[in-house]
Amino acid sequence: MWDAIIVGARCAGSATALLLARQGHKVLLLDRASFPSDTLSTHFLWPRGCSYLNRWGVLDEVLVGAPGLSHVNFARDGIAFAARTPLKQVERRLHAVHGDGTGAVTTHVSVRRTVLDQWLVEKAIAAGVEFRPGAAVKRLVFDGDRVVGAAGDGFEERGRLVIGADGRNSFVAKAVQAPVYDERENATFAYWTYFSGLGLKEAVMEKRGRLCVVIVPTNFGAGMALVFGPKAWYPQFREHFQENYMRAIAFVNPGLEEKVRAGHQEERFYGVGDQRAFKRQCVGQGWLLVGDAACIKDQCTAIGMTHAFRDAELAAACIGNLEDYARRREADLADYYEFVDRMAGMALATPDDMRFMRGVQANPELADEFAAMYGDALRVDEYIAEGRPRVPLLGDDVPSPDGLACLL
Ligand SMILES: Cc1cc2nc3c(=O)[nH]c(=O)nc-3n(C[C@H](O)[C@H](O)[C@H](O)COP(=O)(O)OP(=O)(O)OC[C@H]3O[C@@H](n4cnc5c(N)ncnc54)[C@H](O)[C@@H]3O)c2cc1C
Repeated sequence: MWDAIIVGARCAGSATALLLARQGHKVLLLDRASFPSDTLSTHFLWPRGCSYLNRWGVLDEVLVGAPGLSHVNFARDGIAFAARTPLKQVERRLHAVHGDGTGAVTTHVSVRRTVLDQWLVEKAIAAGVEFRPGAAVKRLVFDGDRVVGAAGDGFEERGRLVIGADGRNSFVAKAVQAPVYDERENATFAYWTYFSGLGLKEAVMEKRGRLCVVIVPTNFGAGMALVFGPKAWYPQFREHFQENYMRAIAFVNPGLEEKVRAGHQEERFYGVGDQRAFKRQCVGQGWLLVGDAACIKDQCTAIGMTHAFRDAELAAACIGNLEDYARRREADLADYYEFVDRMAGMALATPDDMRFMRGVQANPELADEFAAMYGDALRVDEYIAEGRPRVPLLGDDVPSPDGLACLL
């Protein structure tokens, strides 16, 4: 009899397994994949995400292979500023959510999933977790309405709790018929690949019109370069995605296109067309969901792994009180969920947005807090709360072209 059987061994599953094992629980971790293994995702971690890794003793290993980054260079329709998440914001948030702000860092990192997920699995094993790769869960075991185990080809295991950490299309969620709610329509398409020789040492996140480019140094001396836009443009973009990818970068910032063209493409292109957001009921009799299994958000703010780590800490803290897990998780998630939904619409900047961005550009403290808000260290409702310095009006705004023309 296991204390917990965890289905899925990436950001959410391995982290939950590691924390439960460190509390002395007997944990079985199952994944249908063999590790190291990649997944269809980019891999940027904001300071809050890095802080979780630091709290668990994984960050140092991660930073051996992937460069730690001190700030993000943001730009919106030509309004550019560099911003560093203040340490006190990360500490405050960790304290508010977990009752303990220790281990907070201001580092950002973009770490390949082949590396990060492997480190998490290894740390979990070192903590005493039994890990079985290549174990696809195909059936849950019930006693009445209560989940009491998980089974697949050649195995059936019993446990006090089955934790679904099995991603967006969660088998566990489907098997327990966890209701889906709060679905959203806004979503982006995204294409990315990897280049050596880009000569960029920090993260760049630039938007123009309805397109965005993110370039971040990552493992193996390469930089990950991502383009995204509104999901309605996906069919058109996909038709000639290689040309459109370059055109989109040139539209957002011709200087970035030059750097990318001067680099050497190291891998094939990866793409996704639509990542509409939804939430699932995340607890029930004998089961609990963490990470993407419990809630999907669009990729446009790069927050999914950070939220998977948050879920792991909350799940480990609330193992004896699943309703408490659901309540604390939702309280932390609600306003950022709205924020991602707004961002995923990839709307054109309004004159008010432009005034706001100019105000942020002119005030380093507001700029740093903007980064804290973007990476979900500072709550969005606190960032935009009344009483903040009013954003000055610095001139007339020229609406930018939306970027569709560059794809035609
Ligand atoms: C295009 C894109 C870009 C993104 N970029 C970022 C980013 O920059 N930063 C960020 O923080 N987040 C990003 N995300 C989100 C991030 O990828 C996810 O939030 C994160 O992977 C969730 O982790 P997870 O452990 O919950 O699930 P997953 O990573 O999906 O892992 C689920 C695991 O469960 C296993 N599994 C599934 N079914 C079974 C079964 N029946 N039996 C056994 N095992 C099973 C799978 O093999 C897999 O290993 C991005 C997502 C996308 C799509």
